Amino acid sequence: MDIEPEFWIRVLLLDDVTTCTLETVSSFSILNDQTTLPAEITETRCNLTNIPISIELTNGKITIDNQTFTNENVIIFPDDPYIFNLNGSDYRGKLKLIVNPDGNTFDAINLVPPEPYLAGVVGAEMPDYWEPEALKAQAIAARTYCFYVKKRFGTNREWDMKQTAAHQVYRGLSAESLQVWQAVNETQGRVVSCKQSDGPVDIFPSYYSSTCGGHTENSKNVFGDSYETLIGVPCPYCQDVAKPKFFFWPMIQFEKAYITERLLQRYPQLERLGKIAEIVIADRTNFGEFTRLTRIKLIGSTGKSDSLRAEDFRLAIDPTGRKLRSTVCRIVELEGKWAFFSGRGWGHGVGMCQCGAQGLAREGKNAQQILSYYYPGSTIISIY
Ligand SMILES: [Zn+2]
Repeated sequence: MDIEPEFWIRVLLLDDVTTCTLETVSSFSILNDQTTLPAEITETRCNLTNIPISIELTNGKITIDNQTFTNENVIIFPDDPYIFNLNGSDYRGKLKLIVNPDGNTFDAINLVPPEPYLAGVVGAEMPDYWEPEALKAQAIAARTYCFYVKKRFGTNREWDMKQTAAHQVYRGLSAESLQVWQAVNETQGRVVSCKQSDGPVDIFPSYYSSTCGGHTENSKNVFGDSYETLIGVPCPYCQDVAKPKFFFWPMIQFEKAYITERLLQRYPQLERLGKIAEIVIADRTNFGEFTRLTRIKLIGSTGKSDSLRAEDFRLAIDPTGRKLRSTVCRIVELEGKWAFFSGRGWGHGVGMCQCGAQGLAREGKNAQQILSYYYPGSTIISIY
């Protein structure tokens, strides 16, 4: 807990809620930020331990165990061992509650130093029985990614990271283990960096995904950003690690109307196309044995057309990504439906392939070698 506050990570745990339940094993302080002048922080002590405490919003004010706090920012700071339970899940650090501007809901944000945060990520993103060097590569990639997102997007909002795969999965204490903590502590403060387009060496969005399917992809084709280290590399390693039913995914079919509905929900501007009548592959990366779709052209019943990045198309149709697992697949019209088949891999395929990292670690490669394989030309630096 002795790391500078500027490095703490702010994780959005609850978004737009009206109630939640808190439980702690230790007493805690409640700090109520005064946002109007005169600036003042009031501190209340609470000794209710090991019992669920109800947090609610009443007339736009946060109440904790029926005690009302007048200002919109409330910070709960548990004593040693600095753990709180929110709605059944344990987290380290502090809990910040912020009433939203409309006064009808609040957000709950975990303020946590980077290493405990990463312990809750590494154990959620990778099995803890995997090779120690794969876990260390995962810890460095996850640390880099969170500091990139924090720097790039965190300044204008109250939080840095979501706790879902939209950023990276964070499960708090339930994801921790001895092996995970070892990987996090042995890489403390270390991140990957690369030369930026404007010259200096700095951190970059160190994307990673589960199983690339045999070749990783240029970030430009998936996310639209361009870093010289985020280029596709062959990956013969994940096929030996991923179970065949995960390396290859089964054909999935969607009704045409469902595809139109899902696309319109995410991209209302497609309405001018009418019903989606044709799905055309507009661009792809050819890896010889297979191809990754990178751009999809949609032709509508009105005759108008538009195009989307294939990854955006995939997640619009299946936001969980559990059925339509990657864009390494083929698309055909079958009995009035759209069928996606010959699918390989799981995830967007940019940056480190997690199963591939495990494959390389099994061959005796260390974390640094794994990271420089998937982020070519990158270097590891310490930021604290
Ligand atoms: Zn791979």
